[in-house]
Amino acid sequence: MGYLHFQPQNAHRVRVEERDMLFHVPTTSLFELDALDGEVLGFLAEKGQVAEADVRDRFAGRDPADVAEKLRGLLDLEIVTDGGPPKAERPAIRIENFPLSTIVLNVNTGCNLACSYCYKEDLDTPSKGRKMAFDTAVKSIDLLLKESPDRDSYNIVFFGGEPLSNLPLIKDVVAHAEPRFAALGKEVSFTLTTNATLLNEGLVDWLDAHRFGLTVSMDGPKALHDLNRKTVGGKGSYDAVAAKARMLLARYRSRPVGARVTLTAGVTAVEEIWDHLKNDIGFAEVGFSPVTSGDMTAFNLDGTELLEVFEGMKSLGRRYHREALEGRNIGFSNMHQLMQDLWEGRSKALPCGAGVGMLAVDHEGTLNLCHRFTGSEMETYGTVDSGVKRKELSSFLESRLDRTDKGCATCRIRNLCAGGCYHESYAHFSDPLMPAYHYCDLMRDWVDFGIGVYGDLIATNPSYFHDHIAPRRANNK
Ligand code: SF4
Ligand code: SF4
Repeated sequence: MGYLHFQPQNAHRVRVEERDMLFHVPTTSLFELDALDGEVLGFLAEKGQVAEADVRDRFAGRDPADVAEKLRGLLDLEIVTDGGPPKAERPAIRIENFPLSTIVLNVNTGCNLACSYCYKEDLDTPSKGRKMAFDTAVKSIDLLLKESPDRDSYNIVFFGGEPLSNLPLIKDVVAHAEPRFAALGKEVSFTLTTNATLLNEGLVDWLDAHRFGLTVSMDGPKALHDLNRKTVGGKGSYDAVAAKARMLLARYRSRPVGARVTLTAGVTAVEEIWDHLKNDIGFAEVGFSPVTSGDMTAFNLDGTELLEVFEGMKSLGRRYHREALEGRNIGFSNMHQLMQDLWEGRSKALPCGAGVGMLAVDHEGTLNLCHRFTGSEMETYGTVDSGVKRKELSSFLESRLDRTDKGCATCRIRNLCAGGCYHESYAHFSDPLMPAYHYCDLMRDWVDFGIGVYGDLIATNPSYFHDHIAPRRANNK
């Protein structure tokens, strides 16, 4: 053995209750350390670089075979290297194919609500809504099948504006897609996020019959919801939305229905909002999206509010943890997703499927990185007629994959965060390739919190993952 060099960027040590754990950053795996593991790791972390003689001196009196075994384990995990430079965590990848599984159709730029914080740059009032033509939707499906002919299952997402304000197109697309995919021996599923106001019993039954994955945008109890989610006339929409959501939840059987909450200035009471949406309204899951970037700075959470939001998320996360220890799932999507990522040992090279597994088509048939970019100044990547601009899209994704000279290169949550949402960076820094640096510390704190909960749950109630995480994954297909 020459010198051993500790690689701090690959190891993150966490205490979970009484247990000493190692979070292996490259693989997002968690290992329990015994006393000797802990001592060896602590010694290497303290010294940074050690010679054989240093190890012998420090562990004199211990069985050398035991110490050698611990060192071998750390070498295998690349937590120490024996002289050569550490291997690249991800060899440079050239992206040549776009294995699309999902196509997002922006069926109407119009929305019947006028939420004060809405980020959509192509948003129109209902009368001015620009609607997608059926022909464009069919060409989008052609593109999906052309780019990924060999998949077993595909997802079509309807987005807007308010997607249900172009219901005839949605119905036509479903009538076209179901027999088409069935004839190919493939599955197709449909998803939409709605403000719920246009739902009625007949429509709910139709959506249910076609097993739509539904998410309702709702911001909590009346006082909070009505702060921003208003009608075009400026009135709060809570009463209408709550009534429609209750009707929907009473009838919908095919899949669990979730709520998505936008947290903005003045809307930060995470636990209160969750309690209302989960227990009073009855959603299966509630997910939170904090707004930290955007043109309308008045709606962005400031530093203090963002801190409050993350404290609220952790407080609700502790409730999630307590209930999960008893085998119950409280339906807190952000926490549930983090548990799923850790359980599956998901190591992300890119933050999301935008541009790789998913593209968004705007009403004119232009291809965008994802639904949040339609109508923006961001570069587009072809059209449903001309196909994907492969060179440009590859170049964008390859630039984000390259973490050289970015803070993400050594960040301990780099394979869970992967630089964060492109749109957040676009809105905050006008550069979607820039990592979302503006709340890294809070994200790291949140993930550390999640690692603690995961470590405890997997040790004390592992069946929770089979009972509650695995079915969620199947449901989201
Ligand atoms: S954006 Fe920040 S938190 Fe995310 S991986 Fe990069 S440095 Fe880490
Ligand atoms: S870029 Fe951001 S908004 Fe778009 S799909 Fe990815 S995470 Fe979602």
